[in-house]
Amino acid sequence: MAETGFIQKEKLNDFIKELSKDAVVYAPCLEGDTVLFKAFDADKTVCLDRPANNPPKLAIFPQSETLFNFTYIKDTEDPKKMSVEIKANTEFPKAVIFGSRPCDANGFLIYDRVYIDTNTPDPYYMGRREKTTIVTLCCNAPSPGCFCVAVGGGPANNEGSDVLITELEKGYFVEAVTEKGKAVLNAPQVESGASYADEAHKKQLESEKLVKNPFGKDCQPEISMSLFDSDEFWEKYLSKCLSCGACTYLCPTCYCFNITDEQMLNNGERIRSWDGCMFPHFTLEGSGHNPRPTKFKRFRNRVGHKFVYYPEKYNGVIACCGCGRCIRYCPVSVDISEVVSYLRGSQPDVSSGTKENAVTDTVKQEQK
Ligand code: SF4
Ligand code: SF4
Repeated sequence: MAETGFIQKEKLNDFIKELSKDAVVYAPCLEGDTVLFKAFDADKTVCLDRPANNPPKLAIFPQSETLFNFTYIKDTEDPKKMSVEIKANTEFPKAVIFGSRPCDANGFLIYDRVYIDTNTPDPYYMGRREKTTIVTLCCNAPSPGCFCVAVGGGPANNEGSDVLITELEKGYFVEAVTEKGKAVLNAPQVESGASYADEAHKKQLESEKLVKNPFGKDCQPEISMSLFDSDEFWEKYLSKCLSCGACTYLCPTCYCFNITDEQMLNNGERIRSWDGCMFPHFTLEGSGHNPRPTKFKRFRNRVGHKFVYYPEKYNGVIACCGCGRCIRYCPVSVDISEVVSYLRGSQPDVSSGTKENAVTDTVKQEQK
């Protein structure tokens, strides 16, 4: 089976249609001015000009899914007895994520450690993950707020992808990364790619140089725990947060969920839905006590989870892939890369991305 190929630009739509013949294809589609990952159909316009506003995590970890249906059945002979019949939904269709970015694919590796590489794998996540092929587009130019190179990734990184494609002048160079990915190269729109390999690899190297590292040169690799523990630091930094939770929903590495039962008289369904640690009710206990009652405590947990606790548990791997979405779409410009720069004892590089929101002088003072 071929390991590289090439798709002419005018054949890309037919290629995506070909993939959708035997799989649900999730692709970045235009919705007005917005680009959103959606299940592709012939009426939609795929847009690869910029990363989608939302990550493709919904293809493997849907925003809401029925885990199982249940029915209570009364014993007709003995009305005091009742049994419950459960029907789990673990049949998943073959799927392709087309047009994810390297940071998005990396996000699935962060999920895998939690949902698959554990003593209690999650059958829903694992089932979808196994049936999904991830076709990733290299980023030829960074978007505002991107910082993948600062967290172990890169605009042409192939980790987590089954296929990597690189946009060239006349078309797309296609490289299979895994065995699963090789099947994609069998589509009739894919021609021989060998003569485009050098051009593609040159482009990939160039793109690497374009992404800025917002963690300044003097940035320490470790977070200062005294600053991390300082309530005052977080309180001042987070006073503008609206607790809207957009940063968690748009994050390709946020994986928290809630479970609810929706029940009629004698039947119902158990539903899993995304949750987010920036919501006030996230840690609210039945007693009424909330261990994270304020937004600054919730944000400290969000940053801590990605840059302290997850790396402690998984050999230093940071649970942020630097996609920049939480920075681009936060309505009040809270910037996680900026706050991590401060926590690592550095002034953030405000020339990269959307760093117009500097931390207040008082907070800078806090570091001294
Ligand atoms: S997106 Fe911004 S305002 Fe909304 S919860 Fe996240 S940090 Fe707060
Ligand atoms: S924390 Fe922000 S930059 Fe990091 S992966 Fe999540 S959305 Fe992207």
